[in-house]
Amino acid sequence: MSGVLSNKIINKLKYTSQNTGQQAWLIGGYVRDLLLKRDCKDIDVVVLGSGIDFAKQFAENLNDKVLVTYFKNFGTAQVKYRDFEIEFVGARKESYQRDSRKPIVEDGTLEDDQKRRDFTINALSISLNAKDAETLYDPFNGLDDLKNKIIRTPLDPDKTFSDDPLRMMRAIRFATQLGFEIEEKTLKSIADNKQRLEIISGERIIAELNKIILSNEPSIGFRYLFDTGLLNIFFPEMVALQGVEWIGGKGHKDNFYHTLEVLDNVAKHSDNLWLRWAAILHDIAKPATKKFFEGEGWTFHGHEDKGAKMVRPLFRRLRLPLNDKMKYVEKLVFLHLRPIALTKETVTDSAVRRLMVEAGDAIDDLLILCQSDITSKNEAKKKKYLANLEIVKQKIADVGEKDRLRNWQPPITGKDIIQNFKITDPKQIGTLKNKIREAILEGGIADDRNQAFEYMIKEGKAMGLKTVSSLETTQNK
Ligand code: ATP
Ligand code: MG
Repeated sequence: MSGVLSNKIINKLKYTSQNTGQQAWLIGGYVRDLLLKRDCKDIDVVVLGSGIDFAKQFAENLNDKVLVTYFKNFGTAQVKYRDFEIEFVGARKESYQRDSRKPIVEDGTLEDDQKRRDFTINALSISLNAKDAETLYDPFNGLDDLKNKIIRTPLDPDKTFSDDPLRMMRAIRFATQLGFEIEEKTLKSIADNKQRLEIISGERIIAELNKIILSNEPSIGFRYLFDTGLLNIFFPEMVALQGVEWIGGKGHKDNFYHTLEVLDNVAKHSDNLWLRWAAILHDIAKPATKKFFEGEGWTFHGHEDKGAKMVRPLFRRLRLPLNDKMKYVEKLVFLHLRPIALTKETVTDSAVRRLMVEAGDAIDDLLILCQSDITSKNEAKKKKYLANLEIVKQKIADVGEKDRLRNWQPPITGKDIIQNFKITDPKQIGTLKNKIREAILEGGIADDRNQAFEYMIKEGKAMGLKTVSSLETTQNK
């Protein structure tokens, strides 16, 4: 472990502890990620006594440019150094009252501090003290849980979650980010304590949810949220997507699990949080628009329109931003059927162009969403849809290119020709202009002013014209 710990910051932390005699340990996410060999730029340090005193000493010892922030009320301090954030906190003992996640805090020992941590894998600590430097303190077998990929609370999960219900969201978030499983008793306790989430602010819930959504496989988190009943507390519209109804032997697909598949597909192609939100919401109005027609079967007519209208109120309630990100999600939800619908008719340039204008900058993301939405279990069907989408993609590229060419102007104008050759004959000017245009369109020269200028001089000379200025003098005019 010494190799990994030997960077400057850790050495200075050790030095500070040894010099001041104030005991200190690395703890939390940094130790966990160190053992998992994950990159981590947040270093949490717990000290006996004042976190602020220790941070001051440490910042001085670093003897470099740092930004130090003190939080006197909490007795904590933060030092920003390069791209690292080092947090200092005095070891504490916490007790909770039922109606708040703000604990009553007393000074405590390292063991007390480890007990207030949320999960065994987050309670691991490594000594920075002279007498036992680099010793791992692991009172709850966090190391085993790390190896076995288990999320488990250090103490009775009912107490841990009831004390601070945000920890239920964190358990699911860590399971999703790390690809870990939530231990059975811990998981059951989340389900039992789900109602406690009501004392948590929407902002904190959404911060954890967005971390789940930004993970490699967000469906892991949504399955846990659904199975424990947490999702129903803050996002019942998504829960309503679950289930299959049958009439006369005809069922529709389960839109909850379909949505998760679409979300995972999008996650493979894009890190854009808002495109991922568009995946979550693309079918959100299916329950509200569902109808069964004899002969036709299940339909969800207008779900894209109604779904787009649900975006703003949902964003407002979920404490998501009501800005251009929201408008982008609205747009994608509204348009999500369009690319594939285009293949059903003869695809005219004007239909493609209309879609391109409506989607604007979001056209590529719309195509990712649309492709991700093809989740049919029927391989032949899936292949057909994907092939159709390729046709639309090609069409979009073609129409885009055509439009670009129609609006295209050669880099050399008639004015350039007049100024360089001092000619006025419109026929001569036109001939030369056409030659340049053709040379660029044929690919003989690049669509570039310098090359076109040289070409103009060459062709002008061939026509018996005399130049009177150079590129520079022309450009400077
Ligand atoms: P990440 O930085 O990826 O979110 P982390 O484990 O570092 O992961 P932080 O929120 O930075 O999480 O918290 C640092 C440490 O503080 C955690 O590892 C955990 O020990 C403790 N901690 C944070 N929030 C809580 C909480 N709500 N209840 C108990 N302990 C917590
Ligand atoms: Mg952290």
